[in-house]
Amino acid sequence: MEYFLTEQQKEIKKLTRTIAEERVLPVRAALDEKEEFPWEIMKILADAGLFGVYMPEEYGGLGGGIFELCLVVEELSRVCSGVAVSYAASGLGTITLLRYGTEEQKRKYLPDIAAGRKLAGFALTEETAGSDAGGIKTTAQRTDNGYILNGTKRFITNGGEAEIYTVIALTAKEKGPRGASAFLVEKDTPGFSFGRKEKKLGIRASATRELVFEDCLVPAENMLGREGMGFIMTMKLLDCSRPGLGAQAVGLAQGALEAAVDYAQQRVQFGHPIIAQQAVQHMLADMAIQVEAARALVYAIARMVDSGAKDFTKESAMAKVFASDTAMRVTTDAMQIFGGVGYMRDYPIEKMFRDAKITQIYEGANQVLRNAIAFELRKKKGRGG
Ligand SMILES: Cc1cc2nc3c(=O)[nH]c(=O)nc-3n(C[C@H](O)[C@H](O)[C@H](O)COP(=O)(O)OP(=O)(O)OC[C@H]3O[C@@H](n4cnc5c(N)ncnc54)[C@H](O)[C@@H]3O)c2cc1C
Repeated sequence: MEYFLTEQQKEIKKLTRTIAEERVLPVRAALDEKEEFPWEIMKILADAGLFGVYMPEEYGGLGGGIFELCLVVEELSRVCSGVAVSYAASGLGTITLLRYGTEEQKRKYLPDIAAGRKLAGFALTEETAGSDAGGIKTTAQRTDNGYILNGTKRFITNGGEAEIYTVIALTAKEKGPRGASAFLVEKDTPGFSFGRKEKKLGIRASATRELVFEDCLVPAENMLGREGMGFIMTMKLLDCSRPGLGAQAVGLAQGALEAAVDYAQQRVQFGHPIIAQQAVQHMLADMAIQVEAARALVYAIARMVDSGAKDFTKESAMAKVFASDTAMRVTTDAMQIFGGVGYMRDYPIEKMFRDAKITQIYEGANQVLRNAIAFELRKKKGRGG
């Protein structure tokens, strides 16, 4: 389908596809098997200038937005979602700084992140706070020298690998979610360490780890926005980042679709390639329809975010839910088309199927996002059309 990309967007897409096919494809199975963080690929993406696609030129970026970020994530995910997530999580850790940081904070941190010299991460989730982010217990106590952080974050993507983390902590426990604030915490800050590294079903090249804060003193100038803005900024961040997750799901589904079409043309049963069977053709057609619909929605919402629109909570949740449900369905059908070999690790479908599941869970589980969409529908202005 024609999405009317600019010349620069076409270049970004083409460059990422070349890197994905030439550098990621040959190593994706090994990275997954060894659960190894893809540092070499991160370096290649950095050298290609792809970490800064969504940042203003004055901080070393390419001057694009969420749409450009989506293009990179989609192309990486078409080949390996573990690599795509490691790249995307750096954006997740950076967007709050981009939107709410002071000029000084931006000048200090953004150029290194844009150049890929440093990765970022975003830390909200805790044992008591998953879908209910208001359940966080990590505290940030104000002192004369700054804020002292105590608590443990779990399931943090790029945990241990990133140099800079946006961390949400309570500066006023008694106020609940209205008492949360956001801090930039550097990896080598005394009192900051890394705990359990998760062993996962999919996206195994990505690192998912606990962040542990024990009397960790963070300078006051590392607060993002103002005290008490932590949750508002987080909700905005997730509204901005969810099209990126949608792009991850679209890329993954696209990769599975392509693999299934190729396999169906090669595999001969009953004297003909299985693609000659109408039942298989219809599965492939349905997969293609869903992938394209998901892509169109993700691109449209990414463009809406970049347009400067004020409120896109509902649309951004729709893109994430639709694309991730599509990725799960398409990878399931792709495995069906591969038959028994699809279940084996020798073929890429087994990994894609495992990688798809997380897209329905993180950055807002799909049930919770359906709640959010329904909430917006109940307001008259949220009904669309
Ligand atoms: C691999 C991985 C990477 C992650 N990376 C990060 C990261 O970088 N930073 C970060 O902060 N977090 C991260 N997370 C956390 C992730 O965002 C949460 O896991 C997710 O929000 C769901 O929270 P939970 O796991 O506690 O599930 P729960 O909140 O316990 O939910 C369990 C189930 O209950 C359902 N449920 C809960 N509440 C409702 C409701 N009100 N209505 C209907 N259904 C409901 C959910 O949909 C889900 O199906 C990551 C998680 C994983 C697994």
